[in-house]
Amino acid sequence: MTSPKPMMDLPMDTKNHSCSCGGPAEFVEAQCPTCGEKGARVKVGTVRYHLHTELRADATDKIYGLCLSPDCNVAWYAQDGSHHFTTSQTDTPIWAKADAAPVMACYCNEITKEMVADAVSKKGLRGMEEIILHYRDEMKSMCAVKNPMGRCCTDAFEAMIAEALKDYLACNC
Ligand SMILES: [Zn+2]
Repeated sequence: MTSPKPMMDLPMDTKNHSCSCGGPAEFVEAQCPTCGEKGARVKVGTVRYHLHTELRADATDKIYGLCLSPDCNVAWYAQDGSHHFTTSQTDTPIWAKADAAPVMACYCNEITKEMVADAVSKKGLRGMEEIILHYRDEMKSMCAVKNPMGRCCTDAFEAMIAEALKDYLACNC
């Protein structure tokens, strides 16, 4: 067991104080073995949570990269380059992948990109928190396990709000 990091070493999210999941993504130095991009840094516990049960023991590195390339079938790859897991080895749809279905905006509260678009276009909502509370009684914050990146979905969620707003404003309906 390693001792927990002191608080001052944890990245703080300055954008969203209602979420304590660790702020925006950090990236690993190691590149995805298939597409060569650098993935988001994810701890092994998160990777194990999302893998099919029989594969969990195969996640032996401490740190993984989550490949965010839309057309790459690699989900997580070990930082030490020894192995990787593909999107077919998890039931979690990884939002960044082109074939993700549904595209999740928030894994903790089970909000999809489609729900974000509806809230923006039909309800006139513009904020992440108000959109979550439109669908749910409370905001849950369990990104360390539920999100395949192991951290807060704020960046992806806000990008989906911006995209929905752009589509809405571009349409004459
Ligand atoms: Zn990749």
